Amino acid sequence: MRISFAAAEVAPYAKVGGLADVAGSLPQALAALGHEVSVYLPLHRSIDVAKFAIPTKGARTHSVPYGAAHARIEYPEITRDKVRFVFVRSFRIGRDKVYGYPDDAKRYALYCRAVAEDLAGGRGAVPPDIVHAHDWHAALLVQLAARSRKLRASATVFTIHNLAYQGRTSADVLRLVGLPRSRLAVESRDEANPMARAIAAADIVSTVSERYAEEILTPEFGEGLQDLLGERRGDLWGITNGIDTAFFDPARDPHIAAHYNAEDQSGKATCKAALQKEAGLVVDASAPLFGVIGRLVEQKGVDLLTAVAPWLLEKGGQLAVLGTGDPAYEQRWRGLAQKMKGRLALTLGFDAALAQRIYAGSDMFLMPSRFEPCGLGQLISLRYGTIPVVRAVGGLANTVRDVDADGRGNGFSFTRYEAAAFADAIGRALHRYRAGGQPWLALRTRAMLEDHSWTASARRYVDMYGAATKARRAA
Ligand code: ADP
Repeated sequence: MRISFAAAEVAPYAKVGGLADVAGSLPQALAALGHEVSVYLPLHRSIDVAKFAIPTKGARTHSVPYGAAHARIEYPEITRDKVRFVFVRSFRIGRDKVYGYPDDAKRYALYCRAVAEDLAGGRGAVPPDIVHAHDWHAALLVQLAARSRKLRASATVFTIHNLAYQGRTSADVLRLVGLPRSRLAVESRDEANPMARAIAAADIVSTVSERYAEEILTPEFGEGLQDLLGERRGDLWGITNGIDTAFFDPARDPHIAAHYNAEDQSGKATCKAALQKEAGLVVDASAPLFGVIGRLVEQKGVDLLTAVAPWLLEKGGQLAVLGTGDPAYEQRWRGLAQKMKGRLALTLGFDAALAQRIYAGSDMFLMPSRFEPCGLGQLISLRYGTIPVVRAVGGLANTVRDVDADGRGNGFSFTRYEAAAFADAIGRALHRYRAGGQPWLALRTRAMLEDHSWTASARRYVDMYGAATKARRAA
């Protein structure tokens, strides 16, 4: 199959969260199965053109209708691991950051229009079998493809990585890229909801775990789109994300102090000591070290984390926190870190290499999310033998099995979103950690040997593309 991805962030070129991991590694897994995959992403100004050898001259260009005018778009591309990465370049689209500007809706609408233009191509261009758009930034591509004469035979798939971000904007944006203003029931007057439009228009809709696919049909997790999603229930798939296990590999990771694997885990202690030293924590092999990595936003359960942190540190635990996000949460963590020097190490910012050292050096990893479409932190942790303590919600429920409920479990979990329940799960994890010995080693070994590579999930994506093609033919 010829498959074209569209995503706002793609690792290693630009990354804010898990979307980048998926858009950067699923295409390789599909290519390894013999498919022809291209990935379209905006050429953000933060992308290091020299480092990635992205050609600065000679790329093909299209003049893309944009409102009353035309926008000149360039499409430089590179090929890596048999996947074509096409960078959509325009001063109207590229900025220093991936998100966070008042005109994000317009920038991404133009990006979608530009991708549609290139996919439809010039004379003789072969349209893809599958147009696969990810999250709200690429959502309008679904409607654009469905309305394009040249892309009529291409099946469209829309994947929800996070339903909380829908890209709601003014309906004027639609006119800019040539889409009709006809309203969906969930759109108020003069409003456009790109994510809702993609859910309504795509041949197949998917999300990134089986559990989240069920949850989003309920008012609690549906973010107002539960009825629309309910109408698409028969075309809604849940496929749990994998991770790039060649990249996230404690036996080869170039950023960590020592290498280790499931058979010989001795290097993990070296990684822990190195992390304690680097982070300014007391270097103590016996102190249980908890890692936290993620966007500091309400979704990630930051209020539970800050509520439980003082207790955890009093119990002799240590915390290594890496994140960036809501200024109010950053402020709260700063306050805590000041009071708990030597026990709480806080890094506010985005640092992929430090993240890998925390995954490797920690004993346990905390992820008490309010909701979690899939979550990658717990999967990366398992790969590094770092035991996850999570709230059993969304993809966390699909991937973490509580040791106390399942003799072959791989972590600790709790259900009710409250500090006491979280503390109870941490308490059970601490107890097992301190008991140590063979049972803890066996737990870690089990975690490390689990297969969270893309192999199985990529095959399910191929099945889903088959269903999308069938649906397109029927339509
Ligand atoms: P989300 O996509 O909701 O942010 P996920 O758990 O799916 O959450 O994916 C987050 C990804 O981003 C993981 O690879 C995680 O390690 C990485 N990450 C998040 N915050 C940071 C940070 N501040 N520095 C480095 N990596 C980070």
